[in-house]
Amino acid sequence: MAGGPVAVIGGGISGLAAAHALRHSHPVTLFEAQKRVGGNAHTVTAAAHANQPNAVDIDTGVTVLHEPSTPPLFDELDIAHVSPPADLTYLTIRCTRCGFDTSELENGLPRRPHVGDDTWSRLVDDYQRLGNLVASGSIALTSYELVATEGFSEYFVEHVVVPAIAGAFVMSPAAARRCSATAMLRALADVGLQLGDPLRDYYTVKGGTKTYIDRLAAAIPDLRVGTAIQAVSRGVDGVTLRDSTGATYEFDKAIIAVSADRALAMLTSPTALQREVLAAFPYDYTSWTLHTDPSVETSNSVLHYQMADCTNAAVHINLLHNPPQRIPGPIQYVSTSTHGGPPPDPASALETTVHGIAIITPEAVAAQQKLPQISDSTLAFAGAYFGDTGHENALYSGLKAASLLLGGSSSGGLRDMRTGTFHPWCDQP
Ligand SMILES: Cc1cc2nc3c(=O)[nH]c(=O)nc-3n(C[C@H](O)[C@H](O)[C@H](O)COP(=O)(O)OP(=O)(O)OC[C@H]3O[C@@H](n4cnc5c(N)ncnc54)[C@H](O)[C@@H]3O)c2cc1C
Repeated sequence: MAGGPVAVIGGGISGLAAAHALRHSHPVTLFEAQKRVGGNAHTVTAAAHANQPNAVDIDTGVTVLHEPSTPPLFDELDIAHVSPPADLTYLTIRCTRCGFDTSELENGLPRRPHVGDDTWSRLVDDYQRLGNLVASGSIALTSYELVATEGFSEYFVEHVVVPAIAGAFVMSPAAARRCSATAMLRALADVGLQLGDPLRDYYTVKGGTKTYIDRLAAAIPDLRVGTAIQAVSRGVDGVTLRDSTGATYEFDKAIIAVSADRALAMLTSPTALQREVLAAFPYDYTSWTLHTDPSVETSNSVLHYQMADCTNAAVHINLLHNPPQRIPGPIQYVSTSTHGGPPPDPASALETTVHGIAIITPEAVAAQQKLPQISDSTLAFAGAYFGDTGHENALYSGLKAASLLLGGSSSGGLRDMRTGTFHPWCDQP
């Protein structure tokens, strides 16, 4: 082993991928604050039950992965794919008050809800105009500013734009309003503007993401779970870490693979550029409850967005685990994030977890262009905020950070989710 000791902070997919890539060239120590690795990628095993003869593995934080951007590392780890049913869609949106419902579309439009002629004809027109924008490119505004300048109706914004962004990025309606128009247009292109298109080229992992998370972790010789790093200081000879008990550790090099806000908080002396870039990513921390409450609405989709009225004031975002993971019934496993409405029946809850997602604001899109400049061959950064906030790009960011420590170049971007080619995901502010 030629290299000196390296620390990786954060045991999500980005940190695990980085540590795995460096394990033959350097003595690697991975520090993870929680008692388990995986971060957002988390598989819950629901025990066998009178109505469910076998235990089932449910992926709560990563539901579906995109076939064209599958990392070669997954082949090495022998990942078995499960294809979702052919008619499964990504997102359905329903509004209890007016009956807006994208689960059944006619000519690309939802069946007419209980709205007046003017609202309906504007909805038809807005769908068309948003389709043209999705085809046309990127705009440096928040999606909310975009819809205001484009003159979309409030009805369209509340029933289509906000739910589609919240669904695409798995975030709260409030955070969705802050996303950049560029990110929004790309996300809408990804999930299918008409929202009713069957999900193509996606898969889930047989046995859950834990199969490869466990294999990655097992290959790391020094794995310290339950160790939260509080401070990272860079000196002339390397990097010093301090954990929450006050213990310090010396390394030649380090990779910080946590969210951008936490990365900035642990740097004792960030450079001006590190401060500017890392501070540009606000986070949406949302609580998700995995449950079996049968009263929660479901549909034949990965994500079901249910609004109680026409304003997004009371919303349930439901990740439906049975259809994409082909979990047989009759028990429906759902992860729900509640925004203003009543939570699912607590008696049916299996687990509640808080997940953080970077909000790709216009400032964050601009900061993504500068991300290659904040890492070098001694201290590098990784995480889902380097790309589209998705799992595969988080993994690629970890590999990129590892290659920097091995003397690679910081130029070049991440892998585009839709085309499979490498370039910065948001290439224009
Ligand atoms: C509900 C939900 C569903 C999703 N579904 C999908 C999907 O279907 N497909 C997809 O591609 N993406 C999906 N994502 C996104 C995906 O989960 C993430 O992008 C990705 O897994 C993040 O990986 P990461 O390594 O960047 O960060 P994380 O997974 O957040 O890992 C960071 C790790 O760092 C640890 N840490 C933090 N602070 C410290 C510290 N001080 N010291 C030590 N360790 C620390 C954390 O405990 C955590 O384990 C989903 C996200 C959510 C919230």
